[in-house]
Amino acid sequence: MEKYIANLVTLAEQCDCGNHHNPITIEKISVGKEVLLELVSFLKSKGYKKPILIADVHTFEAAGVSISKDLTQSNISFSVSLIKPDENNDVVADEKSLVQALLEMPQDTDVIIAVGAGTIHDIARFCSAKTAVPFISVPTAPSVDGFTSMGAPLIVRGVKITYQMTAPIALFVDIGILKDAPKKMIAAGFGDMLAKFTSLADWKFDHLVKEEPYCPLVAEITREALDACMEQVDSIADGDERGVRILIEALIKSGLAMLIFGQSHPASGGEHHLSHYWEMEFLRQKRPAILHGAKVGVSTSLLAGIYKEKFLPFILDSSRLHSFEDKAIVAKISENLTEINHVYQQIPESGQLRRLLEKLSGETIPAQLGIDDELVKASLSEAHNLRKRYTGLKFLNEINVQSTLLK
Ligand SMILES: [Zn+2]
Ligand SMILES: [Zn+2]
Repeated sequence: MEKYIANLVTLAEQCDCGNHHNPITIEKISVGKEVLLELVSFLKSKGYKKPILIADVHTFEAAGVSISKDLTQSNISFSVSLIKPDENNDVVADEKSLVQALLEMPQDTDVIIAVGAGTIHDIARFCSAKTAVPFISVPTAPSVDGFTSMGAPLIVRGVKITYQMTAPIALFVDIGILKDAPKKMIAAGFGDMLAKFTSLADWKFDHLVKEEPYCPLVAEITREALDACMEQVDSIADGDERGVRILIEALIKSGLAMLIFGQSHPASGGEHHLSHYWEMEFLRQKRPAILHGAKVGVSTSLLAGIYKEKFLPFILDSSRLHSFEDKAIVAKISENLTEINHVYQQIPESGQLRRLLEKLSGETIPAQLGIDDELVKASLSEAHNLRKRYTGLKFLNEINVQSTLLK
């Protein structure tokens, strides 16, 4: 991983795509067995003396106890903020959790250690950005691709918005801990990787028809991470050390791609907008949260089917395409048809994606997540409005085929 990052830094510096690329400020990414011991050496080498661990009861049990022992043995005094669950017994990154963490952070804290999965990282990322205290990431499950990125999706006044905060200065990923993560979190991480099929296609489409900024290097990093997961899906399904390592490395790479690009384009397209729409409705109804990657795996499979059955046949049928009234878009699509066709053809069939999710004991259809047909229907015709990005989903809505989307 160290070599990979050094190589990536050079590639990003040399990239001539014309977009600004953020420097990778992560000093160390250590993935392996028993790497938590390296955490203490890292703290010492950096001169940190007052760390705070941000965790919840489960993630503290998984990794916090062991880190606490190491810190005590090294005579480093530390504090702990155990984020309390909400009324649904979920730990969420909302005002209550954010304020709890900030209040429990002593004034002289010099480093934050996020011990947990996505939500704990979002809380730690917020605290780090607002106090200018650096944070270190210790993932306890390979469940999302956001560990290395700057974005923190936060729930404020019942609405979830992603804020650009800070990236960690180091990651310590203990494979032994990840291997013991709940199976559903491993399936969720895989779901967040599957999303790259549709997100990469949507990004390219947005670039080709609306000149949205695009970087071939960043797309390639994401694509390679996705391919690695697809090649090793059996190992990942076994949940053994090798499989978990492949998955977390892919998630880290996807996060690094977003970090370099400074935005979520490579990793988040129409499938994330659907998931976001579902999540907002759940928040509105105060229903228990669903794992991000579980929603995204399902929405990817749903969207893949729509792209194969509705989107591609439409753009490939010249008379239908030319019946679309936005002539500028028609011209752009016609001009780039081969490339657009190619990127959307690379998305597997919906059934194949469902079988992959099934292999990992993940949910495959919205109903299994408690998302009914009505919400699916509403999301297919409204979720594209949540973001400005011109995705295949937005295009389909513009050509007014909403009524046929679900048939
Ligand atoms: Zn995601
Ligand atoms: Zn570039």
